[in-house]
Amino acid sequence: MKERILVIEDNELNRELVTDLLEASGFIVYQAREAEEGLRLAREHLPELVLMDLSLPGMDGLAATRALREDHAIRHLTVIALTAHAMKGDEQTALQAGCDGYLTKPIDTRTFTGKIRDFISLAKAQTT
Ligand code: MN
Repeated sequence: MKERILVIEDNELNRELVTDLLEASGFIVYQAREAEEGLRLAREHLPELVLMDLSLPGMDGLAATRALREDHAIRHLTVIALTAHAMKGDEQTALQAGCDGYLTKPIDTRTFTGKIRDFISLAKAQTT
């Protein structure tokens, strides 16, 4: 079965890039432009991984991750933060908010899908 990724990212170019890379690697991708839509899609599809941009209009990615962790239907989902620039503070804050890991933007197109697969494998190993 194909694994499913939910991409919550308001930047259209980055959302399309990530989607193209993931689909080219065989993933099914759901896209959201803001947090509320993302949380709704998370509940609807229960994807194997949520890619969460931290900088979103309205509810930001940190608040969305906290909301996800407080929702029994989706709190178990793997959430990987997308952080702009390699800011150490952002990364620590992401983990404290409940993210399982993070990737920094701009993403490295050569290694991106491999890292996504690693995060999914790690999450599966932790639940078995
Ligand atoms: Mn953004």
